[in-house]
Amino acid sequence: GFDAEDLEGIAGELAAAGSAAPLPVLAVVGRPNVGKSTLVNRILGRREAVVQDQPGVTRDRVTYEANWAGRRFKLVDTGGWEQDVLGLDASVAAQAEFAIQAADAVVFVVDSKVGATDTDEAVVKLLRRAGKPVVLCANKVDGPTGEADAAMLWNLGLGEPHPVSSLHGRGTGDLLDAILDVLPEAPQQTFGAGGIGGPRRIALIGRPNVGKSSMLNKVAKEDRVVVNEQAGTTRDPVDELIELGGKQWMFVDTAGIRRKVHLQEGADYYASLRTAAALEKAECAVVLIDVSESISVQDTRIISMAVDAGRCVVIAYNKWDTLDDERRFYLEREIERDLVQVQWAPRVNVSARTGRHMEKLVPAIETALAGWETRVPTGKLNSFLGELVAAHPHPIRGGKQPRILFGTQAGTKPPRFVLFASGFIEAGYRRFIERRLREEFGFEGTPIQISVRVRE
Ligand code: GDP
Ligand code: GDP
Repeated sequence: GFDAEDLEGIAGELAAAGSAAPLPVLAVVGRPNVGKSTLVNRILGRREAVVQDQPGVTRDRVTYEANWAGRRFKLVDTGGWEQDVLGLDASVAAQAEFAIQAADAVVFVVDSKVGATDTDEAVVKLLRRAGKPVVLCANKVDGPTGEADAAMLWNLGLGEPHPVSSLHGRGTGDLLDAILDVLPEAPQQTFGAGGIGGPRRIALIGRPNVGKSSMLNKVAKEDRVVVNEQAGTTRDPVDELIELGGKQWMFVDTAGIRRKVHLQEGADYYASLRTAAALEKAECAVVLIDVSESISVQDTRIISMAVDAGRCVVIAYNKWDTLDDERRFYLEREIERDLVQVQWAPRVNVSARTGRHMEKLVPAIETALAGWETRVPTGKLNSFLGELVAAHPHPIRGGKQPRILFGTQAGTKPPRFVLFASGFIEAGYRRFIERRLREEFGFEGTPIQISVRVRE
C-alpha cells in the first residue's frame, strides 16, 4: 500500500500532470553561438519527466516542458533548427517570426562579450513590432567583471539586461524570475476560443508541395472564405473560419499556406517553423502525405512534431488520383514500415485536385477529436490494469518483479496517464500497456502519454 508520503507525492504528481490548461509558450531567440541551447538546458535541468519511446522516429524536438518555481511552461529552442542552411540574418529573422506568431513571451539572448551586433538590432526591431513581452538575457557574464559588458546592452532599448552565465548558472534564477513576471499564466491561443461549442482548431500540415493550399482551397470552396468578425473576440487574421459538413472549423495559420514563400535555400527551415507555429494553435493536425512520392524522413518528422505537441492526428494521403497499382503496392509497404508510430491515426485517401473522398475528412477529424478527449474513469482503468497485470506480468528483472500498483488518467487533450509501480517499468512493457489501453478504450487519432512513478 501507500503511506502518507506516497500519497503526498501522488497528489503532487496529479496536480502537475492533471492540469488540463494549455501552457504558455516561451521562445528563446538570438544569434548562433550566443548560448541559447546552453540556456535551454540550464532551464530544463533534469526536469524532463515524461520520456516517450518511439523507435524508428527521428526526433528533432523543439518544444520542451519546463518548470520553474512551480510554474509550468513550454520552452521553444529555436536554435536547433538547421541554422546553417540559411544566411545568418534570415535564420534569426525566422526565429523572431516564430516568436511573434506562436510565443507568449520571448527571451532574447545576446553575447555580452561580443556586444550588440547589427543582427541583434534588427531582431530587436522585429520583436518590438510583435508587442510580445521580451526579457533580455546578457549571456556569458561568467563573473563580476562581465557586468559592465552586460550594462552596455541597455542600448538595445529592451529594458534591463539580465547578466547571466548559462554555462555556470550564474544569474539564471533572477532571469527566470523576470521571465515569469512577464509570461502570461495562460497562452494567448486558447482552445475552442469562442467558448463551449466554438469552432475546433485544425492545422493542415505537411512538407512543401503535398497539396496543403490545394486542400485549403477545396475545403474553402475555391476561395470562398468566411471571415470571422464575431464582436468582442480578437482572432488572428491568419486563421480562417470554414464551414464543412454543416459545422464551422477554424483552420489555423492559413496565411502561411496561402503566402507561398518559395526560397531556394532554407525552405525546409521555414516550413518547420510554420508547422510548429500552426501546431501550437491547433487541436487537430491533418497531416498531408503526397502518395505520388515515397514517404520521406521529412514526412515522419512532421508527424512526430504533431505527436510531440500532443495534438490529435488525421493522415490525409493526398494525390490519390495519381496512384497506379504498382505505386499503391509500394505505398502500403512504406506506410507499414515508416508510419507504425501512428497506426492509431484515422486515414483518408483523398485528392485535393479532384475532390475525391474529401467528404471523409470531417468524420475523421471528429473521430480524432473524440479520442483526444476520451476520459477513462479511475475505477474502470484500475480494473483493466488489474486484469492486465495478472494475465501479463512484467518480466522478472534482477530477481524482482516490478508491478503496476495503481493508475489514473491525469488529463485529456491528449489523454495522459500516471501509473504507479513497485519498480522500473521497461519501455517495452509500457508500449504493451499503451497497446492494450487502445484496444480497450479506443483513443483513435490521439497520442497517449504515459508516465510511470516508481515507489522506491
Ligand atoms: P546557440 O548557438 O545560441 O544555441 O549557442 P550554444 O548554447 O551552442 O553556445 C555556444 C557556445 O557558447 C558554446 O561553446 C557554449 O559553451 C558557450 N557558452 C554558452 N553560454 C555561455 C556562458 O554563459 N559563458 C561562456 N563563457 N560560454 C558560454
Ligand atoms: P503545398 O505546398 O502543400 O501547399 O502544395 P500545393 O497545394 O501548392 O500543391 C503542390 C502541387 O501539387 C500543385 O501543382 C498542385 O496542383 C498539386 N496537387 C495538389 N493536390 C493534388 C492532388 O490531389 N492530385 C494531383 N494530381 N495533384 C495535386
